Amino acid sequence: MTKPRVIVVGGGPAGLMAAGQAALSGAETLLLEKMDRPGRKLRITGKGRCNLTNVASLSDFITHYGPNGRFLRQAFSRFFTRELVAFIEALGVSTVTERGGRVFPVSGRAGEVVNALMRWVRDCGVILKPGSVVEGLLVEKGRVTGVEADRVYGADAVIIACGGASYPDTGSTGDGYGLAESAGHGIVPVRPALVPLETAGDVAFRLQGLSLRNVTCRVWINGKKRAQAFGEMSFTSFGLSGPIILTLSRQVVDALGAGGNVILSLDLKPALDRRKLDARLLRELDAHGRKHFRSLLKELLPGKLIPVCTDLTDISPDRVGHQITAQERKRLRTWLKDFRLEVTGYRPFTEAIVTAGGVDTKEVDPRTMASRLVKGLYFAGEVLDIDGDTGGYNLQAAFSTGWVAGRSSLPIS
Ligand SMILES: Cc1cc2nc3c(=O)[nH]c(=O)nc-3n(C[C@H](O)[C@H](O)[C@H](O)COP(=O)(O)OP(=O)(O)OC[C@H]3O[C@@H](n4cnc5c(N)ncnc54)[C@H](O)[C@@H]3O)c2cc1C
Repeated sequence: MTKPRVIVVGGGPAGLMAAGQAALSGAETLLLEKMDRPGRKLRITGKGRCNLTNVASLSDFITHYGPNGRFLRQAFSRFFTRELVAFIEALGVSTVTERGGRVFPVSGRAGEVVNALMRWVRDCGVILKPGSVVEGLLVEKGRVTGVEADRVYGADAVIIACGGASYPDTGSTGDGYGLAESAGHGIVPVRPALVPLETAGDVAFRLQGLSLRNVTCRVWINGKKRAQAFGEMSFTSFGLSGPIILTLSRQVVDALGAGGNVILSLDLKPALDRRKLDARLLRELDAHGRKHFRSLLKELLPGKLIPVCTDLTDISPDRVGHQITAQERKRLRTWLKDFRLEVTGYRPFTEAIVTAGGVDTKEVDPRTMASRLVKGLYFAGEVLDIDGDTGGYNLQAAFSTGWVAGRSSLPIS
């Protein structure tokens, strides 16, 4: 009897995991990857260090994907953080948990993870064909029969793991959406997520290169406060980036898409309420009454922010401390707690860490990742309408859905 044949389309973390699991389950498994080698995106994750997952509890974990996180619950109940870490360590890659519960390889090299996965996939008996672009899905009478690439490949099951549309140079060019659509699947509109934001005026441009730690950023949409995050951010030539901005970008992108007005308000002194901040300002102005305002600000702000502060608060940098009026002090206090930048747009897919939207999860069985529309068709990874926060959530989702899809693709009925 010949073995059932499973084809996996895409050799990212989801596809590599799915292919290995399908092979271990007894399938003759073919992995078709369009690039010259698999795992191109995985190699650049976590700034080349690969933030594999996060040690957050399951209930907390699920909240990091927005409303669609529930879809992952069943996959996580079978293959979650502990299983992923044990799996990677069994491949010879030691891991370490860092600040914020983020798990990385001890070596700090994403390449080590990719190489270990490649060895494992080969040891599992997967046939890997790099340089193979899958252009079509073959479906007959409601059942998948194969794919079209450089030639037609017959299959009993096909797992689509083509990733999203972000960082297209890595091979993730959104092909999975077309393949899924051709099988009748609905695609939730795709848009960049975890993406830097563009702001009005020249303030960000003047501050480019500056990173701020321990600030709070609040998102105001059409005059209502909708979200906030505390941590690190940075200014770029076009606007804002850094961890908290990327996290908040989900709400911002959707609000801009709906034609909303979006303002980001930075609280540069979140540890001090307005009363304490005022007392601090009074102390500084009293203690340094003869100092120029510009020098005085050095006690409060990084140097690059000082000219922007004096411009936006309209306080002359050449005034000395005891000349600063109560009105001016109030303006300074207000600005330190509520430094506003209007968001005018967001960066394109080439700069987005992940893609929001994708294959509609309503049409996919969360226990198996099987299509509810076409027999023998499965999905795994970012091609699904799932996007997580930074912190290891996207790779865990890719590995977990890949694990489930690979295991579920057999037995084939
Ligand atoms: C710069 C950057 C840093 C990141 N850092 C982290 C991090 O530290 N932690 C984290 O959790 N997440 C991180 N992510 C997100 C994470 O990398 C992705 O969510 C994850 O790689 C998705 O896995 P995937 O297997 O679904 O898709 P991908 O990794 O995108 O892989 C899809 C594969 O399919 C192939 N393919 C596409 N179309 C076809 C086709 N037609 N035929 C054949 N093959 C095809 C592609 O070439 C690609 O190899 C980062 C992303 C970026 C861009």
